[in-house]
Amino acid sequence: MADYIPELARANPDHFGIVLATADGRIYAVGDTDVPFTIQSISKPFSYGLALKLLGREQVQRKVGVEPSGEAFNAISLDPQTGIPRNPMINAGAIATTAQISHAIGADAERLLLEFFSDLANRPLSIDQAVYRSECESGHRNRAISHLLRNAQVIETDPEQGLDLYFRQCAISITCRDLAVMAATLACQGSNPLSGDHILEPEIVTRMLALMGTCGMYDYAGHWLYDVGMPAKSGVAGGVLAVVPGRLGIATYSPRLDAYGNSSRGIAVCEEISQRLGLHLYNQNPGLTTPIRRSSNATFQQSRRLRNTQEESQLAEQGGQVRILHAQGVIDFADCELLLAEIQRLSNKARVLLLDLVQVTEVQPLCWPLLATQFELLRQRGIPLVLSRCQHLPLDPALTPYPRYSSFDEALEAAENLLLGGALHSNPEAGDQPSWTHVLKDVDPELIEPMMRLRRLEPGEAVIERGQAGDSLFIAQSGLYSTTVDLQELDGQFRATRMATFAPGMCFGEIAFISGLPRSADVICTTGGFCWELLREDFDQLRLHHPQAAIQLLLALANDLGAKLGRTNVQLSLMEQL
Ligand code: GLU
Repeated sequence: MADYIPELARANPDHFGIVLATADGRIYAVGDTDVPFTIQSISKPFSYGLALKLLGREQVQRKVGVEPSGEAFNAISLDPQTGIPRNPMINAGAIATTAQISHAIGADAERLLLEFFSDLANRPLSIDQAVYRSECESGHRNRAISHLLRNAQVIETDPEQGLDLYFRQCAISITCRDLAVMAATLACQGSNPLSGDHILEPEIVTRMLALMGTCGMYDYAGHWLYDVGMPAKSGVAGGVLAVVPGRLGIATYSPRLDAYGNSSRGIAVCEEISQRLGLHLYNQNPGLTTPIRRSSNATFQQSRRLRNTQEESQLAEQGGQVRILHAQGVIDFADCELLLAEIQRLSNKARVLLLDLVQVTEVQPLCWPLLATQFELLRQRGIPLVLSRCQHLPLDPALTPYPRYSSFDEALEAAENLLLGGALHSNPEAGDQPSWTHVLKDVDPELIEPMMRLRRLEPGEAVIERGQAGDSLFIAQSGLYSTTVDLQELDGQFRATRMATFAPGMCFGEIAFISGLPRSADVICTTGGFCWELLREDFDQLRLHHPQAAIQLLLALANDLGAKLGRTNVQLSLMEQL
């Protein structure tokens, strides 16, 4: 164990703890994970990060470099070329860094530093006064370094002041668990996965990790990167902190050190974890994720806007030209490139593109301009884009001109409309003939005509209300009629969901009419229009006096229902593949 700081020699050499903290905040701990020890050199990358945050890169780099050094961590020397310490992971660089913080902040520096470390660990931390005093009294070498820095104008004020803050920083008392949370915060680009607090900017964390990668493990750093392949930092009290960027933080505590000054068991544990879990930074699987959850087209997925025969056959024939992409995950550059390639590939056959983003949790800012460029190219080629379910994403302004819908069904309807008629919204005109002549074409018109009443509806007016007796049947003459029910969605919330939209010529309300059960949903005329109504009492008269015609009418309704049910079955079966 380290004994050049006398107090460190009092640790229990058998203590041994391992903690893994994942990027989404789960913690796996085994052994002595709550035993306090001092952070020592593991504080160095963090105080460097704090200096970058407070003072900016330019000012910090004027006083300390970023090159690995071939010398011992506690060498009393500076880079002969630059006259400043080679990097912030050796003592000279760390003291220069902390002195800058001390100089800039003054009397408040210790409190600020402690708060910063506490935020990283998600727990109020304190300084182990015994270890601090012990190093203060025995740290002649560091005192020499500090004065050397003063002499070289790297430190421009009292060299004792910065040194004192450095000793305090090294004596911050932490546990193995704290260290793992700090490591996970670095794995999450500076956001603490437990508190959710954003503590450091990603650019700063990137720099900290880079220095840990090249200089974090004393003179074993090259070997470590070769075998373990993670940015890491160790301290003489026996802690090791390692980071798998984007995935997890690892911490070990075991006070016995090897010849390099690294925790012997810590090194062995990290080597084994890296190998067994395949975590080496330079051993990344190229095909881990795909941004495309499903790619389909409008012959397979159709909106709940029911279509007339002509539109239906056009969709069956040309629906393949409405290309539907369901994207997913966190879209970073690699995913974005795959997405763009897929859009490019599809665009040769597409007349309309629908991009559904409900399963996308994040689009990294650098991807927006790439997407915007691709969409602009589509626009120039006359391929319209419809966006679906992107309300949870901070959409880039370049994408706001594209039509977007908060429901996939509506987006799909808009895409179908674009294919069918070239416009997003279609409000079909009534034909010259009364529309019932189409649905009820096999029923004697002489008998039916006197029974059909034309009703006029305002936009938004209910034709059918849930719970009413089903004592009439309707056929749309003009306008659109939508039926919705409140469905519980995955988030537990109930939302009005469209079951179907009926257009002119289509029959609705026939289910309750036939079954005699109360209405199960509302039907609203969304556009305003006219529809034909047939009352049960008239139908009963028809049954009585013209049973043959009544049978024909029921057969016509059965046919219509059968066609609707057939369509629904196909859609349901296709949904299982989603
Ligand atoms: N406070 C110790 C020193 O400066 C830290 C050393 C270390 O952990 O590498 O000597």
